[in-house]
Amino acid sequence: MIDLFSSWEPTERMPLFFIGHGSPMNAILRNEFSESWRNIANTIPAPKAVLCISAHWETGGTFVTAMEKPKTIHDFGGFPKALYDVQYPAQGSPALAQEVKRMVKGAEVGLDEKWGLDHGAWSVIRCIYPEADIPVIQLSLDYKKSPQQHYDLSGELNFLRRRGVLIIGSGNLVHNLGMIAWDHAGDQEYGFDWTIEANDIFKRHILSGNHKELIGYSGLGREVQLAVPTPDHYLPLLYTLAMKEEYESVSFFNDKAIMGSLTMTSVRIG
Ligand code: ZN
Repeated sequence: MIDLFSSWEPTERMPLFFIGHGSPMNAILRNEFSESWRNIANTIPAPKAVLCISAHWETGGTFVTAMEKPKTIHDFGGFPKALYDVQYPAQGSPALAQEVKRMVKGAEVGLDEKWGLDHGAWSVIRCIYPEADIPVIQLSLDYKKSPQQHYDLSGELNFLRRRGVLIIGSGNLVHNLGMIAWDHAGDQEYGFDWTIEANDIFKRHILSGNHKELIGYSGLGREVQLAVPTPDHYLPLLYTLAMKEEYESVSFFNDKAIMGSLTMTSVRIG
């Protein structure tokens, strides 16, 4: 496949998404969460490519997938065979990966040939673009960077929104697997008090554009500390927020707590 990113014409500004991905099973289940994802494509311009920042790709240093054909990575255990059978054969975009590397000045971005698409990316994108006809690349999370450094790096990618690239952060606002209420696994909605409170705190700051507080999330109190025991599922939110223009509108969807200590709350900007 020939893709010459440099020849891409400027486009209208693509919206931004942070998606709470939850269980990998959402990739194959028809439920209210995956139905929302399925509707996204109908509400936005057709992108030329998708750039996903997934909670499930942490690396030393920042990398972008640069292969022609990213493989589908089944990075989970103990799920039904039907989920392992899923392939998401979207093309990559080496040219877009090169462009990301070239345009980010504040950090060295490496070109990766080994990763592919992990479930944080494909479980969601497969629902949005089931035909797998839009190229997808991933940007990794450098575990050595501070939240501020992640935010700053992401801000340098804002230009991609005007080049027809759909940017999706994929994680979960509240994500504490150690405190899952397994006895409520079948409930449509169930969240601990601290889960609801932390989710509300995040939403308040997102709505008021108070990114400084969100970057310094460890100072937001006990509920937030419980909600973010490790930064992986939270950082994709900061990537999404960093590309927001001040005047852009913000809305939430899939705004629900499940299994006690998870929220599926997702954010659309623009
Ligand atoms: Zn996850």
